[in-house]
Amino acid sequence: MKNGQLEASSVVTDEELSQINKFTRRAFTADEIYNFSVVLCDNDVDRDFERFTVDTLNKLSELFVGKTGISDHSGKSSDQCARIYYCEVITDPDRKTVYGEPYTYIKAKAYMPKTEKFADLVTEIDAGIKKEVSVGCQVSKRVCSICGSEATLCNHKKGRHYRKNGKSTLCSHELENPTDAYEWSFVAVPAQRSAGVTKKLDATIENSAEIIKSLKNGGEILAEHSSIITKYIEQLEEKAAAAEEYLELQKARVIALVCEGLGDKEGMIIRSAIGRMTAHELFSLYKSCEEKQDKISPQLYSKKGNQNFKKNSEFII
Ligand SMILES: [Zn+2]
Repeated sequence: MKNGQLEASSVVTDEELSQINKFTRRAFTADEIYNFSVVLCDNDVDRDFERFTVDTLNKLSELFVGKTGISDHSGKSSDQCARIYYCEVITDPDRKTVYGEPYTYIKAKAYMPKTEKFADLVTEIDAGIKKEVSVGCQVSKRVCSICGSEATLCNHKKGRHYRKNGKSTLCSHELENPTDAYEWSFVAVPAQRSAGVTKKLDATIENSAEIIKSLKNGGEILAEHSSIITKYIEQLEEKAAAAEEYLELQKARVIALVCEGLGDKEGMIIRSAIGRMTAHELFSLYKSCEEKQDKISPQLYSKKGNQNFKKNSEFII
């Protein structure tokens, strides 16, 4: 994860004012507007060992236009204080990412009405106290930087190094197909490590297996997914209950097979040992008992069923 950066306020130009007024109910004048810039996200590897591709940044820059900023993480509409009215993707050729590519980022312009309510926040931004923002977005695809396959389908672990083209290379997940951009929040303490880009799984995914894969990869669970997960857990519980019943039945069968002909004492010891077996051990034992029986049965059967079998033939020399 990394932090978006706030940049000092600037004078509103006529062009910017007309862009801003597309989002306001009435036309505001330049004097009524506080204008500032935010670096939302970039193409470098972040603290989660994930990164946006330049293509993703281009798509996100469109999705973030019109999104509101909130002054804390409550997500309440009453805390909304600023709105992004313009985004552009900028490449800094002098700065490189960990992969040696030109550093590329989304720079957003945001405005706030100059009202008493936001006076403290404006002062904090100008004074550099509010320096960073935390932004949230949703992507539907994560790609492994080592092998290029869907991140959930390969065995490479993000954050580790692997040989790629003869060089030790950091494995990261490339975030593709952005489907939504959420609100963004001001972060009071610049060094706050939890601040930064929140990447969520696509809420439209209705497949529990995909959701679980994403969770294993450090993804977040969304409110939209709770009913899918609840249903999945119910199905698992049902299967577990059926498996438990089946296991008990198998135990009884194995006990009957193994204890046949044993005395009470030996029978008790065997019963107790079988009772403590794992499902895997129990099935292995059952299988070997069955195989033993199979080996015996066909021989007996073939002897009895043999048409050339003559009465007392075993005694004939
Ligand atoms: Zn891979």
